[in-house]
Amino acid sequence: MGTLKLFSIPRTGTYLGILVLIGAAGGDQPLPALTPNAAIAAMVNAVDANRLKASVETLVAFGTRNDFSETQSTETHGVFAARDWIAGQFRSIAAGTGGRMSVALDTYLQPKTPRTPRAVTESSVIATLRGDAPGRLYVMSSHFDDCDGRCTDGVGVEPGADDNASSVAAVLEAARVMTSTHFKGTIIFAAFDGEELGLWGSNHYAHELAAARAPVLAVLNNDIIGNSVGGDGESEPDVIRVFSQGLPAGTNVDAVNLVGSENDSPSRELSRFIAEVVPLYVPNFTVRQIFRSDRFMRGGDQQSFQAVGYAAAIRFVEAHENFTHQHQDVRMQGGVQYGDLPQYIDAQYLRRATQANVAALATLALGPAPPTGVQMPLEHLGYTSTLRWTPAAGAVSYEILWRATDAPQWQHARDVGDVTQSTVHVSKDDYILGVRSVDANGLRSPAVYPTALRE
Ligand SMILES: [Zn+2]
Repeated sequence: MGTLKLFSIPRTGTYLGILVLIGAAGGDQPLPALTPNAAIAAMVNAVDANRLKASVETLVAFGTRNDFSETQSTETHGVFAARDWIAGQFRSIAAGTGGRMSVALDTYLQPKTPRTPRAVTESSVIATLRGDAPGRLYVMSSHFDDCDGRCTDGVGVEPGADDNASSVAAVLEAARVMTSTHFKGTIIFAAFDGEELGLWGSNHYAHELAAARAPVLAVLNNDIIGNSVGGDGESEPDVIRVFSQGLPAGTNVDAVNLVGSENDSPSRELSRFIAEVVPLYVPNFTVRQIFRSDRFMRGGDQQSFQAVGYAAAIRFVEAHENFTHQHQDVRMQGGVQYGDLPQYIDAQYLRRATQANVAALATLALGPAPPTGVQMPLEHLGYTSTLRWTPAAGAVSYEILWRATDAPQWQHARDVGDVTQSTVHVSKDDYILGVRSVDANGLRSPAVYPTALRE
């Protein structure tokens, strides 16, 4: 590292053509062994299983959170009673933040659609924890509406414990353990309405963010994260799935095929980041990266963000689902209990799922901004790869990452110091390369895949 300092480039944002050529071809340098950050570990360890369980039970006790229960909502029953309770929880958390956190409802009238009997009022709860640095916004989301066998039934009993009181509980708990910390990035804790009927609440809110050109750098959506035993008996209580999108909306497929970047969307880089960070803070808890945007032919609120151009969005889902509990009328049939009941929530699993969110979200919002304007030129045919970038706020150095084209996760890293350009003796024909920021505390940003250009 000492010699590399000689090559440090002033952080002017210009691309100075200083060559730092180090290393031998291929995979000589493993990823660095990261160590937990004490402040983040304290937040992760503060996540409380009993509070999570209590939040789920309170949400279930509203009887139904179906959108069409809105006209019959009382103080203790129906979707808007649940919404008001969630908003009240956020307000009590915000009260201790000295004005850094604000709580708002995102309310609008959703017109009747071919699937729905009438227009219905949608109302999402949005809590915003203001960060100290501009230009960085991170979202942790859930949905609080629910569904029985008929998603337009506003009258039936619809507990919705796992889908999706589990995630609302996680978002509330994350806000509880994180708000005493001053983050660089702004964090939005969201509980969306109308997911079950067409991602309505998240779609409305994502459009508002896009219209305001809000700089959303990552979305961690949570949907069905509290059950640890699948309906087929399979159980992996130390695994959570992260679903990530392949190609962002509007992708030029020819440009992707020219360089083979089909597995390096911002959503995939966020997934890799989460898979690396979570085991640091949640011992023996593993992220299973699923390289598709959601379960087969299904969807979730992360897609509302992806659709408006916020490509770095993923979905957390428990490792094994139980389909006799999801979107089912509560009943006994053939000796089987149907319905999304709170007794099937594993509070310890939900705790680990929440901790995974807190670890990733806190690292994103506390750590360095990712480098921007990352480019990899093809100047001439050769045996090396050059990356250059615009410096990132909070970064004290950068790491070039690379992996084999058929490897799911980054395999190698090299600290290239506080520079804005570096050349490594790694073939861009045979490997995929990216770059990430490193701050003074050793926190890393997600990797950024370079834009290819011919010079
Ligand atoms: Zn759901």
